[in-house]
Amino acid sequence: MNKSDLLRYKNLLLSKQQELSTGKSLAAAIPTAGELRGDPVDMAANETDAAMQIRLHQTDGKLFRAIEDALTRIRHEEFGLCAECGQPIGKARLEAVPWTRWCRDCKERQDSGS
Ligand SMILES: [Zn+2]
Repeated sequence: MNKSDLLRYKNLLLSKQQELSTGKSLAAAIPTAGELRGDPVDMAANETDAAMQIRLHQTDGKLFRAIEDALTRIRHEEFGLCAECGQPIGKARLEAVPWTRWCRDCKERQDSGS
């Protein structure tokens, strides 16, 4: 991954983190890309408002830490590689969820395995 890509993902992560810490619209914090289909945040759509608020709140904290981790990986030049199989994570996936640690295949395997 080249430096300008890294810088762009870093900026994406930083602005998302800013968004979370300033408590701006939670809805905006959740990517709408089809990329996330099947993730916990997406399933919240079927729940009551109250349950959804709680889940969003928890998801928020997790997301914040995930973003911190991703920024650390950028500093260590480990960003963009899957933590499971070591393959580069697809660009489309990084665009949608730059804080992800897993490529799509590994993530899907995790989701179906639980
Ligand atoms: Zn993988």
